[in-house]
Order: sequence, then C-alpha cells, then structure tokens
Amino acid sequence: MTTHTFSVLPVTQSAFDEIKAKLNEAGYDHAVIGGGKGSPITIDMSGIGLEVEKEIEPEFPTIKESITLDEAIELLSEAGRLDPIAMAALIDNRVGCNEFLVDHPTIQVVEDDGKYYVGLLGVINGLFGIDEKGNGAIAAVFDVECPAELKGDILQSNHAIQPDARIGDECPTCGNKLVRGMLIGFRRTPS
Ligand SMILES: [Zn+2]
Repeated sequence: MTTHTFSVLPVTQSAFDEIKAKLNEAGYDHAVIGGGKGSPITIDMSGIGLEVEKEIEPEFPTIKESITLDEAIELLSEAGRLDPIAMAALIDNRVGCNEFLVDHPTIQVVEDDGKYYVGLLGVINGLFGIDEKGNGAIAAVFDVECPAELKGDILQSNHAIQPDARIGDECPTCGNKLVRGMLIGFRRTPS
C-alpha cells in the first residue's frame, strides 16, 4: 500500500469535480488517487498551484452594427456611474459650431448670446432623432442641491430638498437658490 503524506482539505463537490476534470484534461489523472474500499477519492495537489481563472468575455471584441436608445442610455449611465465628474465635464464641454450644425435636423446645439455651441450629448442625440418639440431623446440628469456649504470644489449641503426641486428654487431651510449638483445619470427626455 502506498502511503501519501498530505493534509486533506475538504472542498465542495463542484470545486472537486472542476479540479478533477482540469487535471484529467491536462494529463494529471495520476494525481487523483484512492476511490477503493474505505479510501475516498482524493486529489494529490503536490506541485500544483491554483489561481483564479481569467474571466472570458466572449462578447468582445465585437463591433455592433446597431444599438437601441436604451443601450445608448445605459452606456452613458454606466460611464456616469464610473466617473460622474468626468462625464459631467464632458456634458458641459461645448464648442462653438457653424450654421451647418445648427441647421442639422437632429443634432442638438445650444444658443447663448447669439452664438451656437455643440457638445457630446448633442451629437449622440443626433443619432436618435427628435421629438415633436425638437428635443433629443437622451437627457442628462443632475442632482439639485442647496449651496449652503462649499467643500473643496464641490457644493454640498445637508439641507433637505424636495424631490421635484429645480435649479433656482429656494432652499426650504435657508432660502439659498438651489444649484446643480452631481451627475446622477441619463434617461429618456421626459415628453
Ligand atoms: Zn439650504
């Protein structure tokens, strides 16, 4: 009888089966021992290390020929969750544009003091058409806050705000005019 000297670490049946299958695949079936009378199947892991398998992402790389409006909103929202500050800055970043963009049927531009500006969201919205009012399909959603306290570059306050409060409304606690807060995400433009 062969004597094996190792400690036995119980694992779940599924973990055991997975390791056993991989060892067989790799030609290490001799590492699976026992299984006779009164001798449970044991895997001798001597010389074998384990590490977490790299996740396989079978969807990538893939170029999509088309996406839905919801998928576009979800991607923008995902970017906003990952980096709300950068995404807010991107949304705010508009550059002067010419009359051809102004006249484009679906790309959204903003007018300020007789000049026209276009931004990232205006171009993305151009992909999805316009509603009866001429609005694009995707809107950025920002929190509304009371500017009572300035912490670093970020305006923060604990003053309770009504859920439907808008920028410029008065804070119910201190009367300050409410300001735009953090980017919350993106959604379909309310009709
Ligand atoms: Zn306030």
